[in-house]
Amino acid sequence: MCSVEEDIEDISKYSKRVGNRNASEYRNLQECKKCDMKSEVLLQKKDPFCRKCFFEYCSHKFRSTIGKSKQIKHGDKVLLACSGGRKSTALLHMTKKTLDFATAKQISFNAEIIFIDESLVFPTVEDKQQQIQNIINELKSYGYPVLCSSLEMICKLNSNQIFFWNCDTIDSIKDFPSCSDSQNCIKECMEDMSLSAKLDFIKHIRLLLITEIANHAGFKHVFVGDTSCSLAENLLNNISLGRGSQISSATNFSDFRYKVSICRPLREFLNKEIGLYIHLHDCSYFVLPNLLTKTDTKSCIQRLTESFIVNLQKDFPATVFTIFRTGGKLLKQNELPETEICLLCRSKLDNLHPNACSALEALKLSEQLSQISINDTLVDTVSTENEGGLSDLNDFEDMNFFRFLCYGCSIPFRKNKKSCTFNPVLKTQYVKMTRNEMKEDIKDFLISKE
Ligand SMILES: [Zn+2]
Ligand SMILES: [Zn+2]
Repeated sequence: MCSVEEDIEDISKYSKRVGNRNASEYRNLQECKKCDMKSEVLLQKKDPFCRKCFFEYCSHKFRSTIGKSKQIKHGDKVLLACSGGRKSTALLHMTKKTLDFATAKQISFNAEIIFIDESLVFPTVEDKQQQIQNIINELKSYGYPVLCSSLEMICKLNSNQIFFWNCDTIDSIKDFPSCSDSQNCIKECMEDMSLSAKLDFIKHIRLLLITEIANHAGFKHVFVGDTSCSLAENLLNNISLGRGSQISSATNFSDFRYKVSICRPLREFLNKEIGLYIHLHDCSYFVLPNLLTKTDTKSCIQRLTESFIVNLQKDFPATVFTIFRTGGKLLKQNELPETEICLLCRSKLDNLHPNACSALEALKLSEQLSQISINDTLVDTVSTENEGGLSDLNDFEDMNFFRFLCYGCSIPFRKNKKSCTFNPVLKTQYVKMTRNEMKEDIKDFLISKE
């Protein structure tokens, strides 16, 4: 069983042979490659497996991914992030199988489940509450405690209020506490964003909320259902969305940016393998409509990348692994000090002391130049053009919030200062800053304590 990984990487040699159409070298695809039983699953175009061997292959890959990382210790508390979809259901199912049949020597940890209600930002669906109730009931059926929260609770993080609940203490989803102020805050914040920016923003507030809950409830790790396909997508998306410096943390097994480490035990699986696993185990899963439902391939960066990776998986499955494995190797040199951290994605700030020759500075310059109207340029001389550029730059530097956000997180708010004040994580910082400014303005009129 130890050759599982090689099976995946060795495909290039084999596909050459298939290309030659040499019939004698074609393996009989009707028989399982491990035990000669009748095959039911065909992986990588040439790896036939029977049902039993396929499950063994999955379980071995799952355990070895966790084991190789050496991050999870015996008895650690692990929070499984489950949306009820295909990948997280597979994650939950594999975790249950691993823990139920673990021998004394094998990996063992204490699992609980977190479900985040994201219906606020998704299109309204009929029987929304009933559907969420069904998902929670399904998650409960695995026998682990289920915690739940909703996306708008991100606004409550620093307010000393409860922002998550144990589903055992709540009978029905209808009894769930909701906060209309927080809901409006998130809606206002996302109002003028492009679809790409919205998806990126939701992804980061969801991760922040999950890790804060995990930290609050005493967990050491969060497991997420990222597969090799989702990580390859993440990598390409991150490059397109100005998050190049974060690629390594976003694609490795462990992500240490947040208060609790995020682990990706499904990172060696293709989406196809997850689909087959779910189908053959007959697991029920739920797909709620989201912002990408019924959208065109070119509607946003994430959708375009997704369709590129899906096609790649179909024709060149090994290339998907090459893309996401490259991600772990792309580390930024001259690491910045730990103290400067983005409030939203918890990455080290990449825009504080930019190198004059960096891509970031080049982008800023071209953005400023593109904002100068053509008439101005025609009438005025080159010197005024420079002035225009400089004043724009000062305007940008004046927006002090951007000291708290990395380049990628600040993009959606750069055109619209107003929405910045609705950003849930910036809001507390904003109030603090305005108070300090006000204090500075009126300090001559204040009676000092001395
Ligand atoms: Zn077999
Ligand atoms: Zn950030």
